[in-house]
Amino acid sequence: MKANRLGRMTGAAMILAIAGTLPGSWSRASAETVVDDAAMTDAAQKDNWLAYGRDHSEQRYSPLDEINVDNVSKLGLAWALPLPADRALVGTPVTVDGVLYFTGSYSVARAVDAKTGKLIWEYDPETLKHAGDRARMLWGWSRGLTFYKGKVIIATADGRLIALDSKTGKPIWTTQTFDPKLPLHISGAPKAFRDLVIIGNGGSEQGGGRGFITAYHVDTGKEAWKFYVVPGNPADGFEDAAQEMAAKTWTGEWWKIGGGGQTWNAFTYDAEFDQILIGTGNGGPWNQKIRSPQGGDNLFLCSVVALDATSGKYKWHYQTTPGETWDYTSTMDIVLADLELKEGEGKKKVLMHAPKNGFFYVIDRKDGKLLSAEPFAKVTWATGIDMKTGRPIEAPGARYEKEPVTIWPSVFGGHSWHAMSYNPNTGLVYIPKMELPTHWDDSKIDFNSWKKPSFQIDVGVDVGLGGDIPKDAGTSFLTAWDPVKQKKVWEVPQPNYWNAGTMTTAGNLVFQGQIDGKFAAYDARDGKELWSVNVGSGISAPPITYAVDGKQYVSLLVGFGGAAVAYGGGSSMAQYGWGYRAQLRQLLTFAVGADKPMPEVGERTFAKVLTPAGFTPDAALADRGEHLYKSSCAWCHGAGAVSGGYTPDLRASEAVLHDEQLKKIVQEGALFPSGMPQFKNLTDDDLKALQNFIRKKALDAAQPPSN
Ligand code: CA
Repeated sequence: MKANRLGRMTGAAMILAIAGTLPGSWSRASAETVVDDAAMTDAAQKDNWLAYGRDHSEQRYSPLDEINVDNVSKLGLAWALPLPADRALVGTPVTVDGVLYFTGSYSVARAVDAKTGKLIWEYDPETLKHAGDRARMLWGWSRGLTFYKGKVIIATADGRLIALDSKTGKPIWTTQTFDPKLPLHISGAPKAFRDLVIIGNGGSEQGGGRGFITAYHVDTGKEAWKFYVVPGNPADGFEDAAQEMAAKTWTGEWWKIGGGGQTWNAFTYDAEFDQILIGTGNGGPWNQKIRSPQGGDNLFLCSVVALDATSGKYKWHYQTTPGETWDYTSTMDIVLADLELKEGEGKKKVLMHAPKNGFFYVIDRKDGKLLSAEPFAKVTWATGIDMKTGRPIEAPGARYEKEPVTIWPSVFGGHSWHAMSYNPNTGLVYIPKMELPTHWDDSKIDFNSWKKPSFQIDVGVDVGLGGDIPKDAGTSFLTAWDPVKQKKVWEVPQPNYWNAGTMTTAGNLVFQGQIDGKFAAYDARDGKELWSVNVGSGISAPPITYAVDGKQYVSLLVGFGGAAVAYGGGSSMAQYGWGYRAQLRQLLTFAVGADKPMPEVGERTFAKVLTPAGFTPDAALADRGEHLYKSSCAWCHGAGAVSGGYTPDLRASEAVLHDEQLKKIVQEGALFPSGMPQFKNLTDDDLKALQNFIRKKALDAAQPPSN
């Protein structure tokens, strides 16, 4: 009888029963939260962090106030979960009834006891095994998962959407969301709403083609609807009137390239209007002269698009960057709020959006009408937004029409996927702001011979990608923004140009991590720093907060990552000493009065470049190697052959010195299981050229030029 009962228990329940750590709420069946749309729009729901942006509003605001401005200084470590097998950790965990769910590197999903950090289950989707050539564009990070009616739904870089039983971690269904032959990948969190789950993908820079997002039935994984961000070939007919309208804003034969618009983030369900709001991707290639030679707005690139939640049919759109030509994707989070914009006029149902292009938009959710827009970051591509037309007033020369030009914000944006948060008590939005320019030069690009890439980067314009990024290249800030007055209220300067997502609470607090390993809490009203801890590694992820049995916790994933760390890299990132797998990756959870010692994570490491005697790089070979490096290697190994810490620094690699080892790794894929892609297309001569380039960079670093 006893054996029989045990035999029927699920794996997860068994582990808990054996460990004797059943969380309180699990033992009370009546207290179990059904995570559905009602729960995710319930203002009274306090304890759980149910979704990517905490609930359907995407505000990342928690009504919990046990941790507050008066006691946050007593915050200490409650528990730490070491994650030595992971690399970049950039995700937002979800908590439901005392269990914390998160995705780590390569979308490995885990459930842990939110009170103790004890592992309940783990599911490894074996992403690398499914990746193939995609490993070249698969940087291994995942921004999160979605929880809906007992299912945990994850997405993998190779394009699978997988529904897991939240109790056991066992897969229920798996759906491939794109043709695996296409150079697309997924880094974002799926979003569940109204018994559907939506996911997009990335790849505009690698030849992803015609952008789309797809909704699937949560119960079965079967496709419900698809929305194309870019219209197809008019000769084939259009899917609907919205696509026909969009086609009028394109010129040339864009369908041959596809146009881009890959949408890798920013899905917000707006229950009040029963619509899903999508922040769409940038053009592919970036240079509009190639993509749509006679100009045009190029709908629905770089837009907020509202779709009917049930049918996926177009309702309205607002385009933030018409005819984009600067990688100004609008895939930054879309936050819902009710704001009184003019005194006495009552509250309006608005969305707030701060995309890469540097403007902060307040938009009416009813019809997509622009209500206000002001720059929150340094902006030189436009002088403002014309409120009559809702269109940007572009600065002359910004499109690098006649000559190269330096433009703010950079290709990384004034704000990227690092989530902003909104606190209804202070009325402020907390934006992780970035200040960095990009230099645009297409004078050496032959538009006529340009070919769409496949699994390699080609954006149709030279922006210096692959060249080193100096230590002081840019700056960043935690910026408190008043969305009603459209102006900055306070700002805290932060190191470097890359930063991390924010979270705010009813305790009048804002939490944010930094690139230098500092995790801090600020007074949400004035930005005064009230608490901080050194976590010993760079932070990219946003924190969350939740309560179990009446006690409030703050959790944060620590594992340096993101596009700027990998394909930016360079001296800008390397200066912090976050070496490849050098510091322990972990999930940290803090509580007031907790006092566990911070785990030893490993010393800072700096690349020790190898300069063997007798190797004099050949200038011509090194030059050819630089071109190869920029197109094939820089995206993970870092700008100018300086690793940002996401991968080994090649200047310090023994393998690069030995022809046979280099061939085994690059051509034969000997290190594929650790994430190093196989490059069958690189010949022995190519490897020689790469070797000479890397040696040259090593010598440069050992003997800096005197000037
Ligand atoms: Ca992009």
